[in-house]
Amino acid sequence: MDGLKVGARLIDGAALAARVRAEISAEVQAMASRGQAPPGLAVVLVGGDPASAIYVRNKTAACAEAGFHSVQRNLPATATQAEILAEVEAFNADPAIHGILVQLPLPAGVDSEAVTRAIDPAKDADGLHPDNIARLAMGNPRVLPCTPAGIMEMLHDEGVEIAGREAVVVGRSNIVGRPMARLLLLENATVTVCHSKTANLGAVTRRADILIAAVGRAETITGDMVKPGATVIDVGMNRLPAEEPGGNQRLVGDVDRASVEPVAGLLSPVPGGVGPMTIAMLLRNTLKAAQAAS
Ligand code: NDP
Repeated sequence: MDGLKVGARLIDGAALAARVRAEISAEVQAMASRGQAPPGLAVVLVGGDPASAIYVRNKTAACAEAGFHSVQRNLPATATQAEILAEVEAFNADPAIHGILVQLPLPAGVDSEAVTRAIDPAKDADGLHPDNIARLAMGNPRVLPCTPAGIMEMLHDEGVEIAGREAVVVGRSNIVGRPMARLLLLENATVTVCHSKTANLGAVTRRADILIAAVGRAETITGDMVKPGATVIDVGMNRLPAEEPGGNQRLVGDVDRASVEPVAGLLSPVPGGVGPMTIAMLLRNTLKAAQAAS
């Protein structure tokens, strides 16, 4: 069997994200040549959560590379809700800022929904403002939540047929699962949403032509839960302890790659799949907001 690859083809999310970001950079250069200001993204980071700090660093680096104007505010974990809201209000009023992102989770005691609601919906870089979620739910989206938007982009790029196919989304969070299901429904998939109370998860996931795993539990989806030839998108980002003392943490997805790769037809792996696309969509949302404002 030497040289003969059996099992899933892997989606290269990093390569697709690089292409999308290059298109965005070209657009920013075209704006500059017309004398327009660059898109501006403001990121508010509250507290010292290490994972959040890494995400924010990656996002601001991607902004700089694409030629965006980017501003970051770091507030201590002790920041009050009023202080966080004041930052958001200042960015709402700043004409150089077109996208605002408050990195979640916020410290205990802060009402995340109130903070998200305070963002001007036209500057909602993450697509998580209730007005934008309502528009998506009603089938008339304006800004899309970044992770599900990145997944749709991957499916389109790979030429995956969506209309009329069975799609199963495992997870129903407001950030991933719910908007993902809505986007698949908008493109005429037959969509099932699973969650922690779903009975016989494997029986449901085995029906999926397109299976999206957004569970937040390492390696939950195993090969016996996957229909042969299915497209499997692993959203999970789970950091497991190092296997040996002094070693590095391991980043694993919600899909057990070892058992799923031989069964699936197409697989978005972790790392290198959905993660880079999420950042590319954040830039795209901000670019679109800047173009709409000009
Ligand atoms: P949440 O914890 O908010 O939601 C997880 C969902 O999975 C819930 O709806 C929960 O059900 C469901 N669930 C939990 N256990 C099971 C189970 N055993 N069987 C079936 N369903 C279950 O997570 P998020 O949606 O925010 O994130 C999901 C994963 O995606 C995480 O690993 C996260 O790190 C990752 N992520 C990756 C991003 C990227 O850019 N790559 C971006 C955002 C998230 P219930 O509602 O009943 O509790």
